[in-house]
Amino acid sequence: VSFSSLSLSDELLSLIKQKGYNEPTPIQTAAIPVILSGKDLMASAQTGTGKTAAFTLPILQKLAMQSAGKETDSIRALILVPTRELAVQVNKSVTEYGVNTALKSMVIYGGVSIDAQASSLAAGVDIVVATPGRLLDHLRRGSLSLMAIDTLVFDEADRMLDMGFMDEINAILKQLPTERQTLLFSATFSDAIYRLSKKLLSKPVRIEV
Ligand code: AMP
Repeated sequence: VSFSSLSLSDELLSLIKQKGYNEPTPIQTAAIPVILSGKDLMASAQTGTGKTAAFTLPILQKLAMQSAGKETDSIRALILVPTRELAVQVNKSVTEYGVNTALKSMVIYGGVSIDAQASSLAAGVDIVVATPGRLLDHLRRGSLSLMAIDTLVFDEADRMLDMGFMDEINAILKQLPTERQTLLFSATFSDAIYRLSKKLLSKPVRIEV
């Protein structure tokens, strides 16, 4: 399988080439077509398998197509991650893969000034990569709205549950549109992950690589 058979835009294909990726990893081969088709996804993927590009590339493509020629100022994709380190890393990938698009992304995590984050949000962003606690703080302050989200990603969902974020996740879910595409990535599929997936996903495609 080659990247060019995955229905990605020429812009993304040239970026992938520039990055020196010769072929898609198994999770990328399996997940990219599902995500582009708009279906919900439940995927098992360890770190280092290329899972970040597996969800980032098709999300960038979908958002860039939606916003072709128009200015949008609502957050349309939300990527939830368990830790600040992962948030920074995923946002770096989003920025790198999205360099040829006009899409703006932003990372949100706790332990730093919330006001600075709120003013960046006010300037308008398309994609937010966030840890659950600080995202909820922003929702409570009203410094962001999730009403325009059409793609929601849970990255390392098992770690999010291990870290005790279920209450935050439930509170965030209440503010998300029910009509959306949801992608869940987890290193392991425990009973707790299945319960979460029932709450989050609608007729998901399952991928185990
Ligand atoms: P991840 O599993 O998302 O943390 O990615 C692990 C590493 O693999 C990152 O450094 C990526 O830049 C790299 N990577 C992602 N996709 C590919 C690919 N198709 N070919 C080679 N390297 C890749």
